[in-house]
Amino acid sequence: MANKKWQIASPKIAAFLDDLLKTHRVFAPVKRDGLISFEPISEGDEALLDESPNSRRAPKEMFFPRSETLFAYEEGEITVVPLPDERRVVFGVRPCDARSLILLDKVFDAPDYQDPYYVGRRKNTVLIGLGCNHPLSTCFCTAVGGGPFAVDGLDLLFTNLGDRYLVEAITERGEALVADSPYFREAAPADVSLKAEIAARAEQAVSGPSVEGVKEQLDTMYDDPFWDELHEKCLGCAVCTYLCPTCHCFDIVDEAVNAQGQRVRNWDSCQFPLFTLHASGHNPRPSGKERMRQRVMHKFRYFVENFGEVACVGCGRCVRECPVNMDLREVLNAIRSRKS
Ligand code: SF4
Ligand code: SF4
Repeated sequence: MANKKWQIASPKIAAFLDDLLKTHRVFAPVKRDGLISFEPISEGDEALLDESPNSRRAPKEMFFPRSETLFAYEEGEITVVPLPDERRVVFGVRPCDARSLILLDKVFDAPDYQDPYYVGRRKNTVLIGLGCNHPLSTCFCTAVGGGPFAVDGLDLLFTNLGDRYLVEAITERGEALVADSPYFREAAPADVSLKAEIAARAEQAVSGPSVEGVKEQLDTMYDDPFWDELHEKCLGCAVCTYLCPTCHCFDIVDEAVNAQGQRVRNWDSCQFPLFTLHASGHNPRPSGKERMRQRVMHKFRYFVENFGEVACVGCGRCVRECPVNMDLREVLNAIRSRKS
């Protein structure tokens, strides 16, 4: 495990990214039309380096795109879309989102099934993390096994110290990315202790619901009247699932005219009635009640049964962006205080 530490002057980061662009496709948070999102950049100074909050859309789409053509066909001839093989760097990944990729690996890179599209992108991508000096009031990463400066899933971690950044190598692959760069110099002990102070403050600022006992409580709640009310204000818009870094449902469709077409994988959501509609017309999740139950059960019961962890990294996106203020933290508290 690499553990080297450097510092880089803040104005030099753009030049560092410019150097990476010579050999990699580089993604970074950018602000366009008032929205922060991860986009491919062509110049280092496009990357957002200030104290902005995390991107609205999760970086999962760089590994599992919203829509992806698997192959095309015409008159019996099939053209397979090549598997991803470009070298990529994602700069500015927050610790919660890096952790979400570890959870997605359990689904897409399992011992008995490997999704070649997802796995190819994961293998070719170096993740440069950015610690969260100022977590939002909706963040609860510490309640679900993460933290504003957690390093799980990252190759490098950058911490904003004001006029400079502390840079920590987490993996050898991360270390290799900066080892020969002229913009880094060895971190001073003062840099390391300043980072520790910032991280401790950030950690203290995060609060959230405990998920302890939630799985056991959910084990008893499949037919609980709790679900009758919970879903009532939900619009079924699926914003919570589309923005969630760990949600991963998809549909595969043929988009064709006569004998010409393409097979496409698109994101889908358990919050849509069509998601579970059978060809017979029967729908095992006919109302918002069953669909809301599924979302909560999948994250906090079924995923724990299958993989030993909750499928939530506490990024707070579903809390911030739900148009009717459905607050997952309140849902978890209500489940915990439910008498079985
Ligand atoms: S974002 Fe809110 S309203 Fe939309 S599906 Fe999710 S819980 Fe329901
Ligand atoms: S369930 Fe909500 S808080 Fe948890 S990872 Fe998904 S979007 Fe973030």
